[in-house]
This record gives sequence, structure tokens and C-alpha cells, in this order.
Amino acid sequence: MEKVGKQVLEYTWKTVNPALDTMKNMFDLARLVDSEECREISVLENGKLEFGKACYAVWNADYRCANCTSYQACHTHQRKNRVEHFNGKEYQIQSVPVRIELADATVYSCNLELINFSDYSAEYRKMGGEQEKTKDSLETKGYLSTHDKMTGILNWDGFCKQVRALMMEHPAEHYLVLSANIQNFKLVNSLFGRNIGDSVLIEISEILQEFCGTDGVLARIGGDSFAVCIPKREDMERQLLIRIKQIRSLIESPSYHLNIHFGVYEVEDINIPISIMSDRAYMALQTIRGNREKNIAWFDDTMLKNALHEQKVISDFENNLRSGQFVIYLQPQVNRFGNIEGAECLVRWILPEGKMIPPFEFIGILEQSDLIASLDKYVWELAAKQLSRWKGSEYEKLYLSVNVSPQDFYYVDVADTMISLCEKYNILPEKLHVEITETALANETQGNRHTIELLQKKGFLVEIDDFGKGSSSLSLLKDIKADVLKIDMGFLRQSENNARGNIILETVIDMAKRLNMEVISEGVETEGQLKNLTELGCNMFQGYYFSKPVPVAAFEDMVKDGKN
Ligand code: C2E
Ligand code: MG
Ligand code: MG
Repeated sequence: MEKVGKQVLEYTWKTVNPALDTMKNMFDLARLVDSEECREISVLENGKLEFGKACYAVWNADYRCANCTSYQACHTHQRKNRVEHFNGKEYQIQSVPVRIELADATVYSCNLELINFSDYSAEYRKMGGEQEKTKDSLETKGYLSTHDKMTGILNWDGFCKQVRALMMEHPAEHYLVLSANIQNFKLVNSLFGRNIGDSVLIEISEILQEFCGTDGVLARIGGDSFAVCIPKREDMERQLLIRIKQIRSLIESPSYHLNIHFGVYEVEDINIPISIMSDRAYMALQTIRGNREKNIAWFDDTMLKNALHEQKVISDFENNLRSGQFVIYLQPQVNRFGNIEGAECLVRWILPEGKMIPPFEFIGILEQSDLIASLDKYVWELAAKQLSRWKGSEYEKLYLSVNVSPQDFYYVDVADTMISLCEKYNILPEKLHVEITETALANETQGNRHTIELLQKKGFLVEIDDFGKGSSSLSLLKDIKADVLKIDMGFLRQSENNARGNIILETVIDMAKRLNMEVISEGVETEGQLKNLTELGCNMFQGYYFSKPVPVAAFEDMVKDGKN
């Protein structure tokens, strides 16, 4: 039976040749091949087929097949992308299944092969250098498929071809591949208009071209992203910083500061695909995105390790959640008399072999990839389930406090979810406290405030988490009527001056009380801290001094022991 992959292109005998002509402009070689016989085929003007030469002989002096490098017929009806190396040259081959309706109404299945030869690019480079840009010659030679229309520099395809050619020509040279991105470029268009946006991009490409010199390759690979490949130079960073300064001065406006970041990858092996080199430069770039002080970051192997870790966290997440690898640990919240009144639920990821992974290794990754809401909903449900188990037991009085990530507001109706959980498990909303970080509240608009009001109206207690860590703490208190303020001790611990710290603490505690808020001090580690905080008027505490976060059973034991 005929196997047909999912992504099949459909043509008729009339449309297939014009489509093929377009492809020929985009690729070094585009051809139809018969899947079984490994022969080139053409669709004639009368709508019939003509079989040509054996396809592997066409482009490859080794007489090997483009699909499998063997000598046998091997084309399948599946989309395949591959890179082949023959005689020191690189061939990028895409094989796409195609169905063609012929003149006699039969449907013929074959493959469209799209092949790029990397040595072809030398010709393009020469062409660009000589400014031989008459429209016809450029279009027929595929100039537009390798160049960015607006800036006139290369595009991604052109970049790959030229970099490959450069490295082939001078394989002993050491190379740097750079990835660049302009910060918040969208704002330029909206603040100053598209025309200014375009001319800024053109000017940036000119500045970068000067940086590249005659021995480098420059391309615009996306709206506000550039790629560069240059032979390694000792004073590269100094030269680049000069160009960055020039670029920054292109826009002088109080409402927007133009800034550009560069990731740099030092190529160790010129045989790896250009896309991987560029990915690594981009990985380095990601580490300084938005950073005002640092504009250049170099790739190192830990970035690759981190990226692999990130990818694994993301790709395995749904499975791991389903298989119960995420559990809650409870950290007691204790009153001034030493009694446990409730606990904060903190998620832990336990691998099948028993290793525990702390939140900082995965929460941030999940937040960036919009998976955090699934995890949080899962944790909230575990908390609700636990509260319902405690009903009628000696733990009935305890409350549980759950964390809400800023991203949750975008993906779930937080209030609605919490209300449904209370109904499902038949628990009182006042038993479920909701911790929202100060930063989530500060960055947010009316929407979140409305959610908070709704939660409070329904009887949930809302806590502002990590108060003091962010920068807009005070104005936040003006606008948000939360029930509990959790002061993060970390920010005071770092400061040397206890007297000043105490004045701040006392004032914050007093202010919270006057605003009808309870205060919980988080991160209490020593008896001295506890005593001091008690004197300053704080009534509730959480921290290693009492207990680290522990499994539910251990927490229950702690509560029992406390009573005894
Ligand atoms: P957080 O909500 O501020 O939680 C308090 C963190 O401080 C916990 O770290 C806790 O173990 C730690 N801690 C408590 N007492 C002390 C102390 O005395 N000294 C020190 N140095 N640390 C203390 P953990 O469990 O690693 O959680 C870190 C953060 O991860 C949490 O900060 C929270 O922002 C996030 N997180 C944890 N679980 C969840 C969750 O289910 N969902 C979401 N969205 N975030 C979570
Ligand atoms: Mg918290
Ligand atoms: Mg906290």
C-alpha cells in the first residue's frame, strides 16, 4: 500500500511546473523525482510524465542517492530534511511528498527535492560585491532569496550559504558567530513611525557592516535580529562596543533608549551546521536580554547544559505531572505563642529515582513557557484535597496557603478556579490562602485587582508575598487591599545596618496593622530574629527556625507534637 506522509503538496499537471520554477529561484536545485525508481521526472505540456536520468547522478559526483547516500532507490513519501557531506561540500536536502493530478485524471505521487549546495554561495558573494544588481540578473540568480530587501544585506539563507563558503575557503581560520537583537524594537515603530523604524534598521546594518569589514558576513535574520560571522579578532569586544555606542546614539529620545545586545559563539568545529552555531550565539544573547549594563555575552557550555535542562523540563512536564512527580511540601506558619496555625504549600519535583528538585530549577522555566498555570492549578487542587482530608480531624483548624504566579492571571481565571475547588472538595474559602507576589501585583492592571477583590468577597484570604523584594512596595499598599503582608527577610538580612533595618521593619509592621493587614515574617532563621520581630510587633512567622518545608505526614506529626 502506498504510504503518504502528512505534509503533502497537491498540484495538477498545469500548476506543478510554475511552482517548480519558483522553487528553482529559491534553491540551488529543485526537481521532481520518482519515489520508487529514483529517477528524475518531468511533467510535459500535454499533462503526461517523462522519466529522466537516475536522480543520484545529477548533482553528486559520488553517484550516491540524495536521500540515503546509498546506491539504492530509496525515496519515500515522507517529508525529510537532511544535511549531507560529499567531497568536502555540504548539501542541504529537503524531500517533500507531492501528488500531481495528470491530464488523464490519475494522481501520481512522487517527491519534490529541494537542494542547496553550499559552494554555490561564492557566486552570490561575488555578485553582491560587484554590485551587479540589475533586477533580471538578480532575480534569475536567486538574489532575492538570499538577501534582505530593505537593508540590502543577506537574509538567513544567504547567511548560511556565505558562512559555509567562507569556512570552506579558509578552514584553518578561527571564527566567531554573533547573534544580535535590538531591545524593544517594536516601540520604535509605534513611537516614531514605521519609516523611522526602517531607517534605523538600515543605519544599524551599515554600522554592523563596518564592524564586519570585508572578511566577515552580516545578515538580517528577522525583524530586529542580525547575525554576524567574522574571523576571530583579539580586540573584537572593543570594536563592537564602539559600534554599540554608535547604534545607541541613533535615537535620542527621553521616551526610548535604543539598545542592542550581542551573543557571541566561538566556533570550535566548522563542520557543525551554521544554524547550531547561530543558536548558541543566541543562547548567550538570551542571558543578557533587557540588561542595561551588559551588551555582549559569550556562549559557554553551561548555557548549553541549561538549555538542554530547560528543554527537558518543558518537554517532559505534562507526563511528569500526570505521573505524580510533583508533590507539595508544607512549611508551618507559627504564631507568637509557638502554635502552628497553617502552612504554605511549596511544590517539589521528585524524580522516580527519589531525587528532589527544588522550585528554582523549574518554576522560572515553566513561567517562561506558559506551563506554570497547569502546575499551579495542580498544586491548588492538592491543597484543597488536603484540606478536605483534614475535615473532622485534629487538623481541621489549619489553613493552607498556595502560591499564584504572575503568569497564572493570563491563562486561568484564578478566582473562578479557586471557587470551583472549594465547591468540589466542600471546603471553606477562608481555609485557602492565596499568595500573590508583590511583583505580580505591581506590574498589573485592573484585571488582577478585580480578581483579588472577588477572591476576598468570596472569603479567601489574599496575601502579598515577598513584600520588600520589589521596587514599588509602598505604592502597591496604597492600591491593593490585601489581608496579609508577607515580609521577605532576605532584603534585610543583606544589609549591615541593623538599626536602620529595624526602623524600616517597625514602620512596615505598624503601617500594615493600620491598614488592617496581618503581617507574616518569612525566612526567620534564628531565635534572635524571632525575638526582635516579636518586639517590633509581628505576630506570625515562617522560616527554618521553626521548620523547613516538609512532606505532609511530617507536618502532621509536627502539629501533633506541638499539641502534646
Ligand atoms: P516563596 O513563596 O517566597 O516561598 C518561600 C521560600 O523561602 C521557600 O523556598 C522556602 O523554602 C524558603 N524559606 C522558608 N524559610 C526560609 C528561611 O528561614 N531561610 C531561607 N533562606 N529560606 C527560607 P522554595 O520552597 O524553594 O520556594 C521558592 C519559591 O518558589 C517560592 O517562594 C515561590 O515563589 C516559588 N514556588 C514554590 N512553590 C510554588 C508553586 O506551587 N507555585 C508557584 N507559582 N511558585 C512556587
Ligand atoms: Mg509564597
Ligand atoms: Mg515569599
